Amino acid sequence: MIKLENIHKSFGKMDVLKGIDLEVNKGDIISILGPSGSGKTTLLRCINFLEKANEGTITIDNLSLNVKTAAKKDIIALRKKTAMVFQSYNLFQHKTVLQNITEGLLVVQKKPVKEAKEIALELLKKVGLEHKADAYPSELSGGQQQRVGIARALALNPEVILFDEPTSALDPELVGEVLDVIRKIAKSGITMIIVTHEMNFAREVSSRIVFMDGGVVLEEAEPQIIFNTPKHERTKQFLKRLT
Ligand code: ADP
Repeated sequence: MIKLENIHKSFGKMDVLKGIDLEVNKGDIISILGPSGSGKTTLLRCINFLEKANEGTITIDNLSLNVKTAAKKDIIALRKKTAMVFQSYNLFQHKTVLQNITEGLLVVQKKPVKEAKEIALELLKKVGLEHKADAYPSELSGGQQQRVGIARALALNPEVILFDEPTSALDPELVGEVLDVIRKIAKSGITMIIVTHEMNFAREVSSRIVFMDGGVVLEEAEPQIIFNTPKHERTKQFLKRLT
């Protein structure tokens, strides 16, 4: 359903992605692991053109874009197939929880107000925050804000949700509630790509793990293979440090 071919991205003289190929099937839960600076977040951001890759082809569903020649309207169409959950939540501070979720439904999808509200309340229920619909982000804990971020992503009904280190800004005691919500959504069959440092979570929830180092995919396999019998010395070293 998603296919990345030969994705290159550099910042100035620094080559951050050096020819990434990746295929994701519908319903896959892919976790991208690897040392800091290996290009994980950049890859995620290139998928929905938050960063424009320098070279390569990105396909989601029936839409295949060469990053060099893609027309603006096609980039917008491709973006609509994705939703991103950010490390720092990125909620609108001056809007209520409910308004944060209905925004995309009203503005992008042009849904009627009543329907948008119903969808938002349903999703708030899913992330356990129905009672916070009228609160402002500043009145919520980091974990609750991130759960709103997840509800907002789901509201867009995307083909794929891209999670960019969704728990790394949280105090340790708040990580669990966010991972629980992601786990629950993972079971619903939606396709996900998750950049994370939560190894146990990645091991448990992923259908496949992609290990990146130095701007390339070193190996990819099912979690039990990556964690028990990694092929590459760099993967072994990385996982050993964490256990
Ligand atoms: P990871 O997610 O694996 O930690 P990143 O994709 O965040 O890695 O970053 C990879 C490299 O690209 C890092 O050296 C980082 O400093 C650099 N980088 C990321 N974004 C930018 C940017 N907007 N401008 C310049 N350098 C960047």
